[in-house]
Amino acid sequence: MTPTIITDVKCFITKPDKHNLVVVKVETDKNVTGYGCATFQFRPTTVKEAVEEYLKPILVGKDANQIEDLWQMMHKNSYWRNGPVLNNAISGVDMALWDIKGKLAKMPLYQLFGGKSRTAIPAYTHAVADNLDDLYKEIDRYLEEGYRYIRCQLGFYGGNASNLSTPENPLDGSYFDPEQYANTTIHMFKSIYEKYGNRFQMLHDVHERLEPSQALRFAKQAEPYNLFFLEDVVALEANDWLRNIKNQTATPIATGELFNNPSEWKSLLVNKDIDFLRIHVSQIGGITPALKVAHFADALGIRIAWHTPSDISPIGLAVNTHLNIHLHNAAIQENIEIPENSRKLFYPIPTQKNGYFYPIEEDGIGVNFNEELAAKFPAEFKEHPWTLSRTPDGTIVAP
Ligand code: MG
Repeated sequence: MTPTIITDVKCFITKPDKHNLVVVKVETDKNVTGYGCATFQFRPTTVKEAVEEYLKPILVGKDANQIEDLWQMMHKNSYWRNGPVLNNAISGVDMALWDIKGKLAKMPLYQLFGGKSRTAIPAYTHAVADNLDDLYKEIDRYLEEGYRYIRCQLGFYGGNASNLSTPENPLDGSYFDPEQYANTTIHMFKSIYEKYGNRFQMLHDVHERLEPSQALRFAKQAEPYNLFFLEDVVALEANDWLRNIKNQTATPIATGELFNNPSEWKSLLVNKDIDFLRIHVSQIGGITPALKVAHFADALGIRIAWHTPSDISPIGLAVNTHLNIHLHNAAIQENIEIPENSRKLFYPIPTQKNGYFYPIEEDGIGVNFNEELAAKFPAEFKEHPWTLSRTPDGTIVAP
């Protein structure tokens, strides 16, 4: 195969709707270009700088066909590796290289991976409201749309705090009470299950808000309500406790969106401490490492549910869909409706119909990016108050 020489690497930050999205473009001498998602919405400009100042100089002139070699080069070139900024930068390039390979091969990405394991991947969506009555309305709407899996949350992560007893002169922050949250959430599971029975399966994201013993009690109390999975029951730093929790509850346990380094998932998988791995593909460096970890998990009987929040570009969503159509151990795909402006910048996007996601049947990843229009939605960074989460006494905890 003749080389496909990389002629340029560009990085764009755009905020068409709620979040800053980071997109990498790789250009080649064969007039074939690729796009990748490098979205790290909390530190977008650092990713752009990593791409343009550090990756571009080592990529231009290289053969885009050799993805594995280029990935290893990008990964090891900084000597210190596996951090979120560099991994996202590498991911943007890596996805763009896979996009180019698919276009050269004239195949959608899932075909390049080895073809289908399934016709479509089941989707789950988020029902969020401040009270049960409003939550039921959301659930009814999603059931009507055909969803059979719905993540149910009351209020924001940590629930709706009420009547908190804080010390005098409390510091700024987003306060919640873990006990109050745990109790109201179990009541929510019970109420929803009594109303809907087995018409759909609930999911829930604790978002690291419980201590290990609280998390164990919570997972056990959730058992009668047949959750599809319970996510991030403890903080990342307490993941050593997951074995203890998993061994004592029938509620399926999921984690992984915060992982950057293989050392964070290796022992969890080998010891079967979790049921579902929730890695965020760009946070580990793109498609190349995602395929490896997914195959490793498959051999151990652990299923994949790629993290697909609203702060991911439609390119990232399309990549997750291709992976999910191909990977035998892919379980489910998270879906948050893509807002209007993003749909103008990125097209086409994977189709969600009747609770299933279908891949884009175009060569490569298959998503085009309108660069001129993206420039009309410039990046804008503001603090996210929820990242400063405190328990009632004022202690900062994982958000
Ligand atoms: Mg989550």
